[in-house]
Amino acid sequence: MVSPFDRGFLFAHAAYELTAVYGGRLVDFEGHMSRLDRTLGGIALPNPLSAEAWGKVHRDLIEFNNLTEGLIYLQVTGGAYGMRDFAGPEEFEPTVFLYADTKQLIGETARDGVRAIFLDDTRWKRRDMKTTQLLSQALAYRAAREAGADTALMVEEGRVTEAASSNAWIVDSAGQLVTRELSSSILPGITRAGVLSLLEGSGLTLVERSFTPQEALAAVEAFTTSAGAMIAPVISIDGQSIGSGKPGPVTRQLQRLYYQAMGADVAA
Ligand code: PMP
Repeated sequence: MVSPFDRGFLFAHAAYELTAVYGGRLVDFEGHMSRLDRTLGGIALPNPLSAEAWGKVHRDLIEFNNLTEGLIYLQVTGGAYGMRDFAGPEEFEPTVFLYADTKQLIGETARDGVRAIFLDDTRWKRRDMKTTQLLSQALAYRAAREAGADTALMVEEGRVTEAASSNAWIVDSAGQLVTRELSSSILPGITRAGVLSLLEGSGLTLVERSFTPQEALAAVEAFTTSAGAMIAPVISIDGQSIGSGKPGPVTRQLQRLYYQAMGADVAA
C-alpha cells in the first residue's frame, strides 16, 4: 500500500531510475546507482539502501520475472507523515517501489527511428536531477502524438536542451557528433555517458555544445539516447526529414558499438 499522503504523490518529492536489462544482465548499473545517490542528495532524501542491497533487489527482480530483455524501474519518495505539509519532517523515511517490465530494447524504434517535434521547454531548472516531476514531459508526449510524431525536442532560449525523455544528438555537415554539454539544464544520461565512452578509436569526433533547432533541421543525422530506447535515430522533426530521412551511418555505427559493449549479438 502507498498512502495518498505520500510526498511522492502530493509533491513529486521522489527520485527514480530506469535501468536496462539485456541478456538478463543490468546495463550500466553503477552509473544509474551513482546518479540515484546524487538525485536523492539534491532532494533531501537519504538513500534507503546500500549499493549492494540495490544490486540484490535488482537481480532478484530479474530472476523472479525471468527477465531477459526489458527495464527495471525504481522510485524512492519522501514517504507519508500525517497530513499535507510542504516542509515535512526533519528526516524522511522513504517509500521504495520497484518493478520489472519486459521491453524489446533493440527493436523497431532502433531500426526505423522516431519522428520528433520541437516544443518549448517548460520544465523547472534542476533537470540534472532525475525526479518524478514529469508533467511537462507527459504533456510533451501528448503533443507529439497529436502531431503524428513520437517524441519532442525541447527548446529553451533558442537552443535544444534534450528530448522529452532522452538526450539529443546531431551529426553536423562536417561529420562531427554534437550533443549538449552537461549542466543543470539537462539530465546527465547514463546512455549518453556510455556512448561517449565508446568514441575513442571509433574515428568519430565529438563537440559538446548546445545546438539550435535550425542546426538540428540541417543536420545530416540526429538521434536520441536513453536507457529505455538506447540509441534511437530521429528521422524527422516537425515533419521535415533529417538527412536522407532514414537512420544514417554514424547512428548505425554507434548502435553497433553500443550493442557490442553490452554483449548483444545483433546487427543493427
Ligand atoms: N533526459 C531525460 C529528460 C530523460 O528523462 C532521460 C531518460 N531517463 C534521459 C535524458 C536519458 O537518460 P538515461 O540514458 O540515463 O536513460
